[in-house]
Amino acid sequence: MLKESPIESSAQESLNPFAIAQAQLDEAAEILQLEPEMHVFLRQPMREFHFTIPVRMDSGRTRVFQGFRVQYNDARGPAKGGIRFHPDETIDTVRALAAWMTWKTAVVDIPLGGGKGGVICDPRLLSQTELERLSRGFMRAIARFVGITKDVPAPDVYTNPQIMAWMMDEYRVLVGHHEPGVITGKPLELGGAAGRGDATARGGIFTVREAAKMMNLDLVGATAAIQGYGNAGQFAHKLASELLGQKIIAVSDSRGGILNENGLDFDDLVAFKLKNGTVVGYPESENISNEDLLELDVAVLYPSALENVITSKNAADIKAKIVAELANGPTTPAADDVLYENGVYVIPDFLCNAGGVTVSYFEMVQNSYQFYWDEALTHERLDSKMTNAFYTVHKMAQAKNVNNRVAAYLVAVDRVAQAARLRGWI
Ligand code: GLU
Repeated sequence: MLKESPIESSAQESLNPFAIAQAQLDEAAEILQLEPEMHVFLRQPMREFHFTIPVRMDSGRTRVFQGFRVQYNDARGPAKGGIRFHPDETIDTVRALAAWMTWKTAVVDIPLGGGKGGVICDPRLLSQTELERLSRGFMRAIARFVGITKDVPAPDVYTNPQIMAWMMDEYRVLVGHHEPGVITGKPLELGGAAGRGDATARGGIFTVREAAKMMNLDLVGATAAIQGYGNAGQFAHKLASELLGQKIIAVSDSRGGILNENGLDFDDLVAFKLKNGTVVGYPESENISNEDLLELDVAVLYPSALENVITSKNAADIKAKIVAELANGPTTPAADDVLYENGVYVIPDFLCNAGGVTVSYFEMVQNSYQFYWDEALTHERLDSKMTNAFYTVHKMAQAKNVNNRVAAYLVAVDRVAQAARLRGWI
């Protein structure tokens, strides 16, 4: 059989998230003139764990799930990052997400590294008792390798505070003492931080507020569309209207999207989604596809679901003035170039969605000294972290004449590399 010609295969856009994460790093490494050893070191995870999790199902039969935990880099502090339960999970997705966590904790300058975990499963098809056994099984598999000084997991797509509580409890059973800071995103009753629930969206909203100032864009009454209606997407709806005065005209979830040019009411829509499991079919709205939602003529587009939704195929059709990436990895490198050329202001994922891990860090701090802050103090400290990070990246983009993603990489990679140098690793 004839081999595919190299020209054809290079024209094919790679959608492997880890290949994308490595390509993004390569670009930054070149501009930073990173020493080759450092570049090689930062292109790979420092450690990764692959394990099976046998789970007794309610039927009495056992199912074996595949789990991963990647500790991408811990030069700046313990690895940190969520655990995703998803049917399409792959090791390369977890590697990419772990790499992005490394750059995320660095860009907001918190003393942590980057990691990520995942299980290939569809939690929507599991009962609560099966989900509990799977969560405890995940913790049993990684317990020796996590802890407040090693690696601290948290929620991600399809995991939540209840799952964090089971994992924290399993850890206590295994090590024999309370260590609430082993995991973040816990319920408030078990050492969770006030303000962690909406932190990802809130942090992103702070960066949108600053971006609009830089662009002389008035956001009051300005339209927004939200792709994805999980934790980040729902709170983006609430906070973009409450804090910025935006009108949210379209939202979507994995089943499809809805549009109402007059704006969608948050409380009413969330109640509808809770009852029906989807936003599709919401009264007084017309159905649109996820693809069409991305191309709406809105002031701000909030991709808030999964990777690779803005690609070379649709980048030229994005009409939003600001793309605020609450999802991890929603935009491919080829699409980045098109958006930049077209003057779209992209707030890159590991800056825009760093609010979640920032408040996770606040949660670890509070767990360590067993003294808890109120929500107002969390908001204030989150605002200052996000605003500082925003301007550091914005100024870097202007100084180096690069897009915001490359600028964020320049800031983050430089910090991680410097930590590795100071440790004497490279
Ligand atoms: N999963 C979230 C993220 O991608 C939060 C991670 C954390 O709080 O550690 O940023």
